[in-house]
Amino acid sequence: MKEKIFSQDKPQSEEFAILRSKMVEHLMSHYHIQDERVLRVMQQVPRELFVPEALKSQAYKDNALPIAAGQTISQPYIVAKMTELLQIEPNYRVLEIGTGSGYQTAILASLARSVYSIERVPQLAEEAEKRLRSLGFLNVVIRCGDGTLGWEIYAPFDAIIVTAGSPKIPEPLLSQLKIGGKMILPVGFEKQAQRLIRITRTQVDFTYEDFGACAFVPLIGEHGWK
Ligand code: SAH
Repeated sequence: MKEKIFSQDKPQSEEFAILRSKMVEHLMSHYHIQDERVLRVMQQVPRELFVPEALKSQAYKDNALPIAAGQTISQPYIVAKMTELLQIEPNYRVLEIGTGSGYQTAILASLARSVYSIERVPQLAEEAEKRLRSLGFLNVVIRCGDGTLGWEIYAPFDAIIVTAGSPKIPEPLLSQLKIGGKMILPVGFEKQAQRLIRITRTQVDFTYEDFGACAFVPLIGEHGWK
């Protein structure tokens, strides 16, 4: 009985910090995420503040969760993997397509100089912006619109991440990537199943690497699903 009372009295943030440590431990031991900077920021960003209130207790589960407008906050492993594959440096300017909850945005903004993030659903863009402001992220710019067109005025980018699945690689994003820059995105002809692809822009061309199967919500726009 006493123990129960103690556990109820314990501040929530402390309990979440413990769950966060377990998540990071799992990312290392089970998923072999190795980049220490990625692991450090995933230990810092309070994921529970990016999920709907009713799902707070599930924030650190090893899966995606529903957010507003029928969209999802990506599984922690996918966030860690995509971030690790981008090899973000502190001076990087990053373009993100699919802000969603803003969780991936927060992870990127903790590692890079600035993050430009585009979300097509107005409600999600507004909520993510408020959330990131209240957490003190000043190096994030969010816009509502079709991210498959990229963000020309801020291009070129050192890194680009797309967090929704597309049948093809959006052409404007390729042209907005710096030489030497990397882009990570899920590509596939099925709406619910894709391959995780990393593209590196070289002096003359692009190289492509496949990092396996994944499942994202569809990227809807001019250069994605219609
Ligand atoms: N990284 C987010 C993932 C959200 S799911 C998170 O972890 O919370 C993918 C998001 O992409 C959805 O919010 C969806 O509305 C958005 N999206 C889909 N097509 C888009 C497009 N063309 N431009 C911008 N955002 C898009």
